[in-house]
Amino acid sequence: MLSSIAIVGAGQAGFQLAASLRQEGYHGKIVLIGDEAGLPYQRPPLSKAYLLGKLDASALSFRSQKFFEEHDITLVQGRVVAIDRTNRSVALASGTHLPYDHLVLALGAHNRELPVPGADLEGVFGLRTLADADRVMQRFASAHHVIVCGAGFIGLEFAAVASAQGCSVHVLELEGRPMARAVSAETSARFRAEHEARGVRFDFGQGLSHIEGVDGRVAHVVTTGGLRLPADLVMVGVGVLPNAYLAAEAGLEIENGIKVDGDLLTSDPSISAIGDCASFPSRHAGRRLRLESVQNAADQARCVAVRLAGKPPQAYGAMPWFWSDQGALRLQIAGLSHGTDATVIVGNQAANQFSVLCFKDEQLIAVESVNSAGDHMAARKLLARRPTLAPREAAAQGFDLRAFEAMSRT
Ligand SMILES: Cc1cc2nc3c(=O)[nH]c(=O)nc-3n(C[C@H](O)[C@H](O)[C@H](O)COP(=O)(O)OP(=O)(O)OC[C@H]3O[C@@H](n4cnc5c(N)ncnc54)[C@H](O)[C@@H]3O)c2cc1C
Repeated sequence: MLSSIAIVGAGQAGFQLAASLRQEGYHGKIVLIGDEAGLPYQRPPLSKAYLLGKLDASALSFRSQKFFEEHDITLVQGRVVAIDRTNRSVALASGTHLPYDHLVLALGAHNRELPVPGADLEGVFGLRTLADADRVMQRFASAHHVIVCGAGFIGLEFAAVASAQGCSVHVLELEGRPMARAVSAETSARFRAEHEARGVRFDFGQGLSHIEGVDGRVAHVVTTGGLRLPADLVMVGVGVLPNAYLAAEAGLEIENGIKVDGDLLTSDPSISAIGDCASFPSRHAGRRLRLESVQNAADQARCVAVRLAGKPPQAYGAMPWFWSDQGALRLQIAGLSHGTDATVIVGNQAANQFSVLCFKDEQLIAVESVNSAGDHMAARKLLARRPTLAPREAAAQGFDLRAFEAMSRT
């Protein structure tokens, strides 16, 4: 049995690992080191209920202080600046050194920045932490013209909140449709229509050229297509980059994140990596992947907890799933839709209750459900069993995903 496990990064994956280690019966020392203030908290509400003022900051914490005390999990606030692999210890910015038998890197990711003039003006934000969300909320009080740069999940969730707050919202996106890299054209179109119905404007094929300010505060944005738009709040949602520097400096292998094997071990057998920072071989994608989702962070943590608790290790193979809330629409995705060559829509698009079934080579690979939680749950179970379902069969009149899933179990 390992006598001490140090976890660097006290976010979704780090917290889950500490909790799961105790659930799996690990009795050794657990040190959870995070560089953010306060108790470990969840990020998804930051662009949803919290930003709308419907949730208190304390409701974001995974667990109270008492939980950590009762489970003998030592929380350390501080930034890890180096890993000493020879002596198995990590160095904190404060100068403290903490030893480990096994180290888990759960470092997350950081927002990609816009390399344009004016990106440092007051009123230009990214959204990753509770502190970011608090700064944005303060700005809402005086914001009228909101520019969202990037029509990905966070940009669009933010657009929905800003329009609900009464702001005029203009979304700029380099691709030709919203969430282009993550969802089917059908799902993109439905979300675009819903945002537009709430007054959000889109400009596709356009990025930001530069941002103009008055007295240090943002006043206008100028797009790559030459549009000059008034702005008093700019939200930059152009993706994230993995926090891999610490691992790279320690000489661990890097490949679009910290490279791990099927057991989530890095190139050093005494170090694992999980969550947004880790690139792993995915059996569902048939290639190396790095995912940014609660499901991936939590399931990878559970997988590593089993191994570190001394139980027989199981290669990581959880079915990916994700959700995004945008105004009246809840999108839930099961599987990975990359490479989709055919889609079938089931349900009622006009009533905003439907699922898009995504196929590749006649095989169901992903399901995007809109306001259809039952379909989503059925899709997760179905995809985990690698179903035999051809597009032709799904397109037949009266096809019901839930009934099909129940039937295919027998
Ligand atoms: C606004 C927002 C909304 C989201 N909404 C959804 C959603 O609806 N659905 C969904 O599935 N996913 C959503 N996500 C993504 C999800 O929150 C992340 O995938 C998840 O948090 C990843 O967990 P993680 O532990 O890998 O990283 P994180 O939760 O980011 O935790 C990493 C932690 O490590 C800390 N850290 C980094 N370097 C060091 C260091 N050197 N020393 C000490 N600490 C360090 C970081 O500060 C951070 O606290 C959202 C993310 C954001 C930002």
